[in-house]
Amino acid sequence: MADAVADLLAYIDRSPTPYHAVAETVRRLEASGYGETRESEVWELSPGDRRYLVRGDASLVAFHVGAVTPAEGGFRIVGAHTDSPNLRLKPLADVTAHGYRQYAVEPYGGVLLHTWLDRDRSLAGRVTGSEGEGTRTLLLDFGRPLLRVPNLAIHLSREQKSEGLKLNAQQHLVPVAGLEDAPGLGDLVAGELRAQGLADAKPEDVLAFDLMTYDVQPSAVVGVRGEFVVAPRLDNLASCHAGLRALLSAEGTPPFTRALVLYDHEEVGSRSAQGAAGSLLRDTLERVVSGFKGGEPQGLARALAQSVLVSADMAHAVHPNYADRHEPGHQPVIGRGPVIKLNANQAYASDAHTSGQFAALCARAGVTPQHFVSRSDLVCGSTIGPITAARVGIPTVDVGNPMLSMHSCREMAGAADVEPMIDVLRLHYES
Ligand code: ZN
Repeated sequence: MADAVADLLAYIDRSPTPYHAVAETVRRLEASGYGETRESEVWELSPGDRRYLVRGDASLVAFHVGAVTPAEGGFRIVGAHTDSPNLRLKPLADVTAHGYRQYAVEPYGGVLLHTWLDRDRSLAGRVTGSEGEGTRTLLLDFGRPLLRVPNLAIHLSREQKSEGLKLNAQQHLVPVAGLEDAPGLGDLVAGELRAQGLADAKPEDVLAFDLMTYDVQPSAVVGVRGEFVVAPRLDNLASCHAGLRALLSAEGTPPFTRALVLYDHEEVGSRSAQGAAGSLLRDTLERVVSGFKGGEPQGLARALAQSVLVSADMAHAVHPNYADRHEPGHQPVIGRGPVIKLNANQAYASDAHTSGQFAALCARAGVTPQHFVSRSDLVCGSTIGPITAARVGIPTVDVGNPMLSMHSCREMAGAADVEPMIDVLRLHYES
């Protein structure tokens, strides 16, 4: 297995939630010399400085300050998102019914619901507890199978043959956590906190949580020649991973400032304090400009006018069994490299200028880009691309690696596509 592929699978398996994806990204940034900067601090930046900041535990911006002021050098940015569709616990999750202990869940984003049945799932996320007069929030990952939503036997659902499987999100997705006398959620969380070293954690100390369920089966390479990577959350941790690897492997300190922005909440529309429709990127770029030694008049506008953003999010590969759902002339194939996404109605931000620039980077990396447009009679998906472009006014291209099973509990992409995307994004950071 290629090093980049093995590294991608490790990154995904360490990132069961957006909070853990940011924590894993921070771990890698710090190992490469990036230091944390807080939004509450005054920033003083010099050429070559490498910093990162985290907002809301689930969004992050990392930047490598260029050799000249951003007003003169601009920014080269890669954007992606840390969140993926999943099933999240409701605040009062405890349910007992018909001899079972269950935890109530709510779908987050566009979950492909049936793929979450009959999977062995754990719980991870963050928990806020009381500490002295205040509170403290901790990341938590149970790391072992705890939950399952059993399918209904075919003998009890004969109508499936004629009508297909119909799932009600309120009724049919409640996972079974044990038999009736199994611990309630508060006991379970407190027990895990004690196992992690908080010796006196009690259920009543748990004030609130953001806990979500995830499939415990490790990511893998499959296919008769190992053509595919199968993993949860490829959309869009594969792009977070590619952007991060590109940033950390880009050489030297060019005149422009490099930035990587990883957003939470893309799957639910990006409107949040740390989402792409919020102020995170603009605030950060403004402060890099004003924090640069000898900051210049009208520096932000001048910097933005010389910047380029690559919005990286996974793309739809043609499905061999449903090829009619794809635009006949634009059918990306797994294993044939990066896809440029275009939509005349701006569901994607790409235009001739930015698509052409990205195609030129692909040529320098020795790959030929593929192209995606949605069928004209199908509603097109979207990305952080147009939302970010509207917030900061930076020319943007929407790209991504081709994949199948998007928004499934376990998705599928190409092993041969992992390295080329990293290479192209690194060239974006170097030229
Ligand atoms: Zn996505």
